[in-house]
Amino acid sequence: MTPTTKTPSKKEIQNVLKECETHNKKHHCFTTLCKEEAQKQKKAKGTLSGIYISVKDNICVKDVETTAGSHILKGYLPKFDATTIQKLKEEGATIIGKTSCDAFGFGSFNTNVGKGFSIPKNPHDTKRTTGGSSGGSAAITQLATFPHVSLAESTGGSIACPASFCGIIGLTPTYGRVSRYGLIPYANSLDKIGIMSKKVSEIEPILKVISGFDEKDGTSLKEPLNLNAPKKLRIGIIKESYAKGIDPEIQKALKSILTKLKQKHTITEISLPLTTTYGVACYYILATSEASTNLACLSGLRYGQELPKKNKGFNSYFTEVRTKSFNQESKRRIMIGTFTRMAGYRDAYYIKATKVRTKIIQEYKKAFKTYDVLISPTMPFIAPTFSNIDKMTPLQNYLSDILTVGSNLAGLPHASIPIGKKEGMPIGLLAITDHLKEGTLLQTLKEIEALQ
Ligand code: GLN
Repeated sequence: MTPTTKTPSKKEIQNVLKECETHNKKHHCFTTLCKEEAQKQKKAKGTLSGIYISVKDNICVKDVETTAGSHILKGYLPKFDATTIQKLKEEGATIIGKTSCDAFGFGSFNTNVGKGFSIPKNPHDTKRTTGGSSGGSAAITQLATFPHVSLAESTGGSIACPASFCGIIGLTPTYGRVSRYGLIPYANSLDKIGIMSKKVSEIEPILKVISGFDEKDGTSLKEPLNLNAPKKLRIGIIKESYAKGIDPEIQKALKSILTKLKQKHTITEISLPLTTTYGVACYYILATSEASTNLACLSGLRYGQELPKKNKGFNSYFTEVRTKSFNQESKRRIMIGTFTRMAGYRDAYYIKATKVRTKIIQEYKKAFKTYDVLISPTMPFIAPTFSNIDKMTPLQNYLSDILTVGSNLAGLPHASIPIGKKEGMPIGLLAITDHLKEGTLLQTLKEIEALQ
């Protein structure tokens, strides 16, 4: 991406959309391409003129179908822009399309798409997953030859995971740093909008634009974006990165980058036992609890696909709509989340998980007294093939998030960056910094990028 500050011509936009169409045929990155909208969009002159932005389909773009990858929201045309989209447009960026995701963000492989949607394919090997849930965003970021950045979203790792599998950079800011207004919620206490790009330098200009307080988001932060960073980094390598179950070749790639980083920075091992042991369970209890309440409004009355009402009573009508439209994973999560919140189980699951979350935050906060940045692999394996994913149980699916849920539960800024390959498939490194330390995170990414 070379910032041009030049307003793109009709022809240039047409060429970009044509390229997207070609990628889409093979890789299914987009749910909707903004063919007319991209041309109609008022072209403000700003710091992002000439930059093309793809947007995860759970972020509202005015008059562009926004479904969160789900069948039940098919046909929904938002009457407003999410705050992030409004800010990007005001700076001259061109929105080119909505990207494929697991329905409502429920997944790690982008295979849980809604009925009627296509599963995106990895740019390095179409037999493999892009990762999820922001898979379409990661794929088009890898494939685009024009100046492009993608707006994605993470609840428990949905930016880092596909970034790792597709070999690009995916940054998730501090919780509250970027407004969630206009984001279709998965789990409100965890959702964060972030950025995917090919180069580290492409992130900063976008982050500057989308960050900032927004009165429309009750959890939006007032603190200004801080891009300062120490020259010499105190790096903590998370000891559990070398546990069994993490691909030895990924561990090798990590060791080799650490050897190089050691020449300039200090590196020691740190253990995060609580996060590693309880992170996945804690995350899936909290995420599904919140998700099950968020999805309650999708019943075919005010929101969601309508069916002929036939005077059957609202209970049977809602049941029919929801049975027909939700996919298997959405139903699973509604059931788990309803169970963990219900009277009699609430204290044992939901409330306990909120307490464990506090302990996890404390574990990280203690670590950041000694370290500027914590490092581990992003995913325990390279992008699996679709046939291997089919063989995974739901529990194995959830466990693949073991390295990304911790920073998401704690609301910490984190990013995945490519550090090598195995069998031609990218390997990602995960860097985590303390709250509000986006500057240190970007500095870490720059240092790692310079070593490649
Ligand atoms: N894989 C995780 C989940 O399925 C994370 C998804 C996300 O961050 N949206 O919940």
